[in-house]
Formats: sequence, structure tokens, C-alpha cells
Amino acid sequence: MTDYDVVVVGAGPGGSIAAKTAAEKGLDVLLIEKRQEIGVPVRCAEGVSKEDLEKFVEPDKRWIAAEIEKAWIFSPDETKVELSAEKAGNEVGYVLERKIFDRHLARLASKAGAEVRVKTSAVGLKRENGIVKLKIRSLGKEEEITTKIVIGADGIESKVGKWAGIDTTLKLGEIESCVQYLMTNIEFESDVTYFWVGKRFAPGGYIWLFPKGDDAANVGIGVMPSIAEKKAKEYLDDFVRKKFPDGEIVEVVVGGVPVSGGLKSAVSDNVMLVGDAARFADPITGGGIINAMKSGYYAGITAYEAVVEEDYSAKFLKKYDERWKKDFGKKLERNKKIQEKLLKMDDETFNKIAKSLEGMRIEEFSVKRLVLEIFKKYPKLFWDMKDLI
Ligand code: FAD
Repeated sequence: MTDYDVVVVGAGPGGSIAAKTAAEKGLDVLLIEKRQEIGVPVRCAEGVSKEDLEKFVEPDKRWIAAEIEKAWIFSPDETKVELSAEKAGNEVGYVLERKIFDRHLARLASKAGAEVRVKTSAVGLKRENGIVKLKIRSLGKEEEITTKIVIGADGIESKVGKWAGIDTTLKLGEIESCVQYLMTNIEFESDVTYFWVGKRFAPGGYIWLFPKGDDAANVGIGVMPSIAEKKAKEYLDDFVRKKFPDGEIVEVVVGGVPVSGGLKSAVSDNVMLVGDAARFADPITGGGIINAMKSGYYAGITAYEAVVEEDYSAKFLKKYDERWKKDFGKKLERNKKIQEKLLKMDDETFNKIAKSLEGMRIEEFSVKRLVLEIFKKYPKLFWDMKDLI
């Protein structure tokens, strides 16, 4: 007998969906979160695709800060390309209020029957006789609990993977460095997300503005430290000083995004990793909420099957690898390759591509159209990219 069937470490979007899914299947689930409040501090620009999000949770205006209709992408010379929300990818659709959203997901897990404990950290893991002994620290007190399966949803700083023998090491060049300000007293369209790309603004990444209602917006930057000439904050401060001289900063977020393109395998005996712990954020956009939720769901389902079969071996849990790979594994791989090419692209090329797309109507935009435009104008670039699109 074990204390639990499944212990989920970390109550971000990945962990809460994993706990909810496993509990709905009737498993005995514990969800632990090291912070005293779920959802804070927020380390996110809070943009998600509507369509993907709604597969997991009914939209609720308490945690929707803005609904987005289109994205404006600015090249280094500020040529504007306009995309409809869903075509712009993961980062537009809704801008969330993650403080409330993350808590809502944890509440759904609890409603499904999972036990939720905050201010409780996992501090060590060992396996014995086919089960896991997980050491946890809660309000200064350490205890050991037993479980058949651990789902590591402990974000970019994941320790569960290392304890379980999964190599989660991120090399320099695989972590995007991000800084974000919540700003007021600035002007923007409240149904548009803004992106500024190219080395001039953000080497290896981009600057974003995601509205949160009419009077505040997340203004942030992600850069690749391997090619940046200064710190992310310095690029952002230069930008903000020029664009929003009267803006006020009311909140600061600093964080890293794993952009390695996902682990080869996110399982070992008794253990599965989900979300940022498994490096599932998109290498181009840095968006990780949806893949965290998807992987949480697949891990929850696989945990249920493992408990039914009484088989918690890595060999059985490979089913989880198969599921996430089938869903978004190829996209992660492809986007990693595209990101590597984008890192080498100079500002002039960004400008030329933007010029060729400028003024194109939203409904005319498609990947095929984009490829044709690039082919017509920049055959060399097309040959570089053709195997990736
Ligand atoms: P997290 O949300 O990081 O949750 C992990 C949880 O585990 C945390 O609550 C942590 O406290 C807890 N934890 C860690 N260790 C332990 C432990 N030992 N014991 C117990 N609990 C533990 N993604 C998007 O989709 N859209 C965006 O606009 C976007 N913008 C971003 C902007 C910035 C500046 C950054 C840094 C990231 C952004 N991301 C964005 C990425 C997104 O925030 C993550 O991909 C997403 O939160 C991953 O979810 P997760 O559940 O895997 O991990």
C-alpha cells in the first residue's frame, strides 16, 4: 500500500491539469505547491490561443484580462505585418490573469478529488521495491510519503527530473532570458498584441506588448544571451524609454524560458515530467502554457492506465512519451530548427520579409502564401527554410 497513487509536484497549469485528470479517473492524488499562494509571483506574459485553451477549461471572465483579435508584428525598421489572432500562434487569443487562472485550475483539480497542499516542497525522491518515497517539506517540517507515480510539473527549475535520473540540463543557448513590466499610462489598442522582432530590438527573441484591459499591458522582452550584446533589461529599458516615455511600471517579472525543443524522453521508472520541467515551451514563441496543459492531461491519463495495470516502469510510461510526441513533438522539433535559422537572420532580411507581407489582408495570410512570397523575393532564404515548413 502507498499513501497515494500519484503525487504531482508543482501547481502551475501542467501540474493542475495532471492532478485533475488523474483524480477524475478515480486515482488517489496529492498536488503539492512550494509557494504559499498558487499563481504568484506570475512569470508569464499570459497570452494563449483561445481554441487550445478552451479544450481544457470553460472560459471565465474572472481570469480573462483581454480578448485579442489581431497581432501586429514590427520588423526592425518598424514595417508592420498584421495577422489574425489564431494565425499568429500560441501567444494571442486571450491574455490571462494568471494569478486567478492558475488558482482556478488548482481548484478544478481539488473539485475532481485531488488533495492540494500549498507551501509544501518536494525535496528528494528515491525508489524502493517498485514505489517512490518522496521527501516533502511543509511549513518547516519534513516527512516522507509513498506513491506509485510522481508527476514532475515543477517548471523550468525542475529538480524531480534530476532526482529521477532524467537529463534535464539546459545548455547556454537553450534558455531565453526574459524581463517584463506591467505598465500603465501607455497607449495601445486593447484587442491587439504587438511584437517587435530583430536584433535591433531583441536578439534571438522579441519584445511584446500584451494588453490587460484598456489601461495596462504586459510589456516584455525575451533574448538569447548567447547572441545578445547587453542584458535583456537594458534592451527593454531602451525600448520603453523611447516608445512609452510617460509609462509607469507597476510590476516587474524576471524569468527564463526553456527553448531546447523538448526532452527526448520525459519518463523514467515511476516518474513523468510535464510542461516546462520537460522543456515543452515553444522554441520560437516561448509559449508554454498550452503544452504544459496538454502534457499534464497525457500524464494524468497514462498514470491511470499504469495504476490499472500495476506497472509503473519506464517501459510502460513510454506511452506518455508517445502521446505528447504525437500531439506536439514534431512541432517542437521543427520550431527548434526554425529558431536556429532565425538566430542567424540579420535585420535587413527581417525588413525585406516584412515589406513583402506589408499590406496583405489577414485572410490572405497563410504559411503557403508566406513561403511563396519568400520564394519569389529571396530564393536563397527559401532553400534554407524549405525543409522546415
Ligand atoms: P510553472 O507554471 O512554472 O509551474 C511550476 C510550479 O512548480 C510553480 O508554481 C513552482 O512554484 C512549483 N514548484 C517548483 N519546484 C517545486 C517543488 N520542489 N515542490 C513543489 N512545487 C514546486 N507561455 C505562454 O504560453 N504564453 C506567454 O505569454 C508566456 N509568456 C512568458 C513570459 C515570461 C517572462 C516567462 C518567463 C514565461 C512565459 N511563458 C509564456 C511560459 C509559461 O509561463 C510556462 O511555459 C508555463 O508556466 C509552464 O507551466 P508549468 O505548469 O510547466 O510550470
